[in-house]
Amino acid sequence: MRRAEALRLIREQSAFHDATQTIISSGHKRQQIVTREDKVGMIARELVLDLKQAVKQDELTLSYQPKHDAGGAIIGVEALIRWQHPRYGFVSPLMIITLAEDSGVIHSLGRWVIEQSCACKSRWNKLGYKNLSMAVNVSPIQLTDKDLPNFINNCIGNNGLLASELELEITESSEIPDDELTDFILDKLSATGVKLAMDDFGMGYSSLLHMRRFQVAAIKIDGSITREVLTNQMNADIVRTIASLGKSQGVQVVAEYVETLEQRQALSNMGCDVFQGYYHSPPLNETDCVAYFLTHQKKVD
Ligand code: C2E
Ligand code: MG
Ligand code: MG
Repeated sequence: MRRAEALRLIREQSAFHDATQTIISSGHKRQQIVTREDKVGMIARELVLDLKQAVKQDELTLSYQPKHDAGGAIIGVEALIRWQHPRYGFVSPLMIITLAEDSGVIHSLGRWVIEQSCACKSRWNKLGYKNLSMAVNVSPIQLTDKDLPNFINNCIGNNGLLASELELEITESSEIPDDELTDFILDKLSATGVKLAMDDFGMGYSSLLHMRRFQVAAIKIDGSITREVLTNQMNADIVRTIASLGKSQGVQVVAEYVETLEQRQALSNMGCDVFQGYYHSPPLNETDCVAYFLTHQKKVD
């Protein structure tokens, strides 16, 4: 009996692992996962139901990854979703977001992330860390929600924050809709005073064109480009080109996936302004993040 149960658990984990691989590697132009007829579709539908509950019942958490400037000082953090599923354990954030986008749960999930990160930022402000920015990832699908700017304004107000303390990293997990409603929402978001950043720049859909479309405060070069900057000449050229574009447009250039000092130095020489990655710190829970602040920056009252 015990052996049968053990076998069942192994099969379950292996099916979950396969589904994760399929969903994560389905890429930008993927087919809807939740309507698939196979085992992957079954697991996806089960996870979507659980995800809806997890959002409602506060079963998700956020990790925060520090960002540092060229001088090495910490200047802010990026909030990243984490979910420990009761049966499957750790669920990859890319899988969470793909399923949330496919099923529409991204709207409630995205609002939960904004609420939690604003509340966290407010706690940090009370501890004296007002000068650190809080970045939140926003899926292009959330840019079809015309109440989002109001929702964000309220979160900022309710938590006593300044809009400039919040940054929205617009991920290119799917195409930013090219329509009037999205332009209206982007304008409204800019008008709130929050900073807008283009995430995964250089890899997604027509990244360059977005810079004409809305006020971009920062561009984050895709990790797959910066990761190989020391070993791949083409990647180094791409980083230099993006950095000089950023300079000429007055836009901050952020390098992510910075894993070594050598990488950081090369990216800095190529013109990047901000550095995020395991070289400085992995994503941390709220308590560990405060401990990190204590050792990495001075408080400002
Ligand atoms: P992202 O926004 O580009 O976030 C950076 C990802 O790189 C994070 O993965 C982070 O843990 C990982 N990372 C950071 N430093 C390093 C490094 O030095 N090396 C390597 N190899 N990886 C590093 P994570 O947390 O798994 O998130 C993956 C993606 O999921 C994010 O990429 C973002 O696109 C999406 N995501 C995460 N949280 C949210 C969220 O709350 N909302 C939305 N819409 N998307 C989210
Ligand atoms: Mg991001
Ligand atoms: Mg990124």
